[in-house]
Amino acid sequence: MSLNELTLLELSEKLSAKTVSSVEATQVLLKRIAQVQPQTNAFIAVDEEGALEEAKASDERRGRGGSRGPLDGIPIALKDNIFVEGQKTTCASLILKDFVAPMDAAVTTQLRQAGMPIVGKLNMDDLAMGSSSASSVFGATHNPYALGRSPGGSSGGAAAAVAARASWAALGSDTGGSIRQPASFCNVVGLKPSFGRVSRRGVVGYASSLDQVGPMARTVKDAALLLNMLAQPDEGDVLCRTAAGGDYMQGIEGGIRGMRIGLWKEGLAWAEEGVAEQIREAAKACEKLGATVVEVSFPLSHLGPLAYAIISAAEASSNLARLDGVRYGYAHRGSKNLRELYFKSRGEGLGKAVKNKLVLGTFTLSHGYYEDFFVKAAKLRTLLSEEIGKALKEVEVVLSPVASTPAFPLDFSPTPAQSAELDKHTVLANLAGLPALSLPYGFSATGLPIGLHLMGRAFEEATLLRLAYALEQDKPCFQKAPTLPAV
Ligand code: GLN
Repeated sequence: MSLNELTLLELSEKLSAKTVSSVEATQVLLKRIAQVQPQTNAFIAVDEEGALEEAKASDERRGRGGSRGPLDGIPIALKDNIFVEGQKTTCASLILKDFVAPMDAAVTTQLRQAGMPIVGKLNMDDLAMGSSSASSVFGATHNPYALGRSPGGSSGGAAAAVAARASWAALGSDTGGSIRQPASFCNVVGLKPSFGRVSRRGVVGYASSLDQVGPMARTVKDAALLLNMLAQPDEGDVLCRTAAGGDYMQGIEGGIRGMRIGLWKEGLAWAEEGVAEQIREAAKACEKLGATVVEVSFPLSHLGPLAYAIISAAEASSNLARLDGVRYGYAHRGSKNLRELYFKSRGEGLGKAVKNKLVLGTFTLSHGYYEDFFVKAAKLRTLLSEEIGKALKEVEVVLSPVASTPAFPLDFSPTPAQSAELDKHTVLANLAGLPALSLPYGFSATGLPIGLHLMGRAFEEATLLRLAYALEQDKPCFQKAPTLPAV
């Protein structure tokens, strides 16, 4: 088996045993990236030299007996909205195409401290808005399991790279489902941590009350190891409330005997039959493994996409006001005055879906409409959170599909209303600030991956990981690689 096909944990063990060096692993990975990039377009940038240099430094540390832990020497790739000092952070947008990050994001510092070489930046939807990764200014990303289909979005490059065995792990970001939906489309594990678990300093903001950074990897344990590295306090993000030193590997093998699990009625009903079938099978597997499963209902949940659409648009319109051609981003040359500079820079630099969103957001915040739109959406958010909170007093985890269908074709271009519907299973966790995980859980009749969504109590990622691990052991879907040519 080629090194790139190992899981992160298997590679970690080989590095510890010194049967493989980080330089060797990085070289294999670089070769794999080059091999599959023409088919997947998962990467926006690859830093060969930097990654090899960091790999060499890792090998030297290990040689001296100074390893920084289980992630030391394992290359990782980052969604291109995460700052790496001195490198471009484009957000796959025209307006930030030449923007060079002035500092490392907090998570970038954390992975450097863990010793992980940064191998490159990953494709995504334009400014993280979308569910297909097709709106990237660098071109669409292709799903490794079906090249004519979308890998999902907005962290589609991250999911595609991990699925194509062109990265052991990646960091994505999730505002309304952007880690979990691509993970489900590409047969990888994606975890959106609780709001406040991971610092967002140095991650380009989309909607600041919803955004979280999280790991994407091939297995549950791999995601847990990455969460250990990510879940650290940071004064640079005032909303980061995590405590230092959590170990998500501990207890992960504990099993689920006695666990109380909810099966989300509406979420199941929204999915097409092939998807629903897998989710019902997961519920049965939970019972087989000793848990109790009951149906839970969130009667207001069909309004989730509406609350999400308004809140995310409002926050985005405020966050992205800084992309004005003066402070940040593409500037139109030759404007006669400031007004024209703003108009033309934003008019030319922002994509269509982004403009739609920003116009909606500015409207919902404007005088005379604020009470009717933004305030109502905020109230709805509270009601939704209460509804889910109530269920989560009775059960520890809520199961559902991640999305109604498996990966859709690349040329599917949803209307804004259809786009909102695409995220209806995933937005609730963002609105309520809860942790949620997408677990590979089967394939459609045509071989497309299907994801199981696990949503848990705030700051109880450990429970999600324990359940996901038990189900993964029972049905190890991650082992089915896409049929891209091997190295
Ligand atoms: N598709 C959703 C949106 O466009 C979610 C995107 C995300 O989570 N970044 O808002």
